[in-house]
Amino acid sequence: MSRAPMRCPRCRVEMNHHADTLDEEAVAESPGEIGRALGGVVVAVYTCPECGEIATRRAS
Ligand SMILES: [Zn+2]
Repeated sequence: MSRAPMRCPRCRVEMNHHADTLDEEAVAESPGEIGRALGGVVVAVYTCPECGEIATRRAS
């Protein structure tokens, strides 16, 4: 499975995949999400090597 690289909204450089975490708030926003059964939705956290910006997106 390949995905487009996450790019920094400021620098446009490719961001580093920092971690995967559970976003429990997202569960409340998306009650139909499969992740609810797991107690949360997995989100991927990215950091920018240039400016330190942090961004997240759904991992699935
Ligand atoms: Zn940046």
